[in-house]
Amino acid sequence: MTKKPNIVLIYTGGTIGMVKDFETNSLRAFNFDNLLIRIPEIKQLECNITTHSFDCPIDSSNMSPEYWLQIAAVIEENYDKADGFVVLHGSDTMSYTASALSFMLENLSKPVIFTGSQLPIGDLRTDAKENLITAIQVASLQENGVPQIQEVCLYFEYKLYRANRTTKINAEHFEAFISLNYPELAESGVHLKVFKNNLLPANKASFYVHKQMCTDIAVLKLYPGITKTVVQAVLNTPNIKGVILETYGAGNAPTLPWFSELLARAMKKGVYVVNVTQCIGGSVIMGQYETSTHLQEIGLVSGKDITFEAAVTKMMYLLSKNLTEKEFEKQFETAIKGELTANFA
Ligand code: ASP
Repeated sequence: MTKKPNIVLIYTGGTIGMVKDFETNSLRAFNFDNLLIRIPEIKQLECNITTHSFDCPIDSSNMSPEYWLQIAAVIEENYDKADGFVVLHGSDTMSYTASALSFMLENLSKPVIFTGSQLPIGDLRTDAKENLITAIQVASLQENGVPQIQEVCLYFEYKLYRANRTTKINAEHFEAFISLNYPELAESGVHLKVFKNNLLPANKASFYVHKQMCTDIAVLKLYPGITKTVVQAVLNTPNIKGVILETYGAGNAPTLPWFSELLARAMKKGVYVVNVTQCIGGSVIMGQYETSTHLQEIGLVSGKDITFEAAVTKMMYLLSKNLTEKEFEKQFETAIKGELTANFA
């Protein structure tokens, strides 16, 4: 007889476990026991579940790298005895946390599945039950006693995605996430179909948690009419080590001399500037247009087809490693956890 997989369920907060505060009429995080009582079906699943809850569950708008570490710590403590992990998280910043964890959990060889819901578990029309139950089933998938999925994923509304490829695009629809630059890893219909060719390869090296994330970063989102004062203010932020420049289309930006000069000056001072497109699909291709050749000449790092969420968290991760300039650039432009397509076509 094959043994039942051991799944660790980590509850951080989010709509899934929220209740209405009738005084203020707004939703607030509630305790975990309430959540489990509302899904008795969990007991029928073919796995053993142990649970961990944040002492004070949070709305994910309050997420921060300190909380990322708390999630990573629960995974680390339970890594040897668990076969898979499910993290319940608010959908608002789920792609950020899940992307961060994809970098922090080194040599992961077990599934870590993030999920949540658009409606609380107590709501009659809730999407929470399906999301939670299927996420647990996905985390339990094994082949010859080995976890089938060995990466950080996000499960929402019948689809399993590579977490660091996702973005929240809808606050209304149950289908809240999208992964435009990478196909789904699995789909839940009458059967649970795993698309094996899309999974990251199995990992043999030993697991550990990378515990530092450098938050000395800034984001500069371009818009027509952006002023020199704004660009200057962002690039001169005290102690800044990296900037994500959110450009147009295939990585394009104004060709105004003052703009290029400010970027070049910041980079000379040792600030890394990464070019990430504002588009949710497609890739930065510096040099494709005249409006990006100047960025290439200055030496911006290409974010290629990385999501904004993965770019922010990858930058925090790489900056904490004190890499040489060359190494930083090389690692940013390489898929280290499947977060970008090296040769986008
Ligand atoms: N505000 C909630 C959160 O992110 C939304 C959700 O869970 O869907 O925590």
